[in-house]
Amino acid sequence: MNENCLEGMLCPVCGNQEPFEISGSSWFLVFQDGVDEPSEVEWDDSSPCRCPACGHTATVGYFMSDA
Ligand SMILES: [Zn+2]
Repeated sequence: MNENCLEGMLCPVCGNQEPFEISGSSWFLVFQDGVDEPSEVEWDDSSPCRCPACGHTATVGYFMSDA
């Protein structure tokens, strides 16, 4: 995984820098008896994002400290 995924992200409420819960989209390999690990996970600045430390919910862009 890209270790710089969260670079520049900061919770504006509590100051948490990681982790974050992000609702993005991804591709799955689906078999008759189950689903494989997701790959090619994608999100952007407009994806919903939640801080697990304080529960603050906004978009990824809102969590970007440089914005
Ligand atoms: Zn927070």
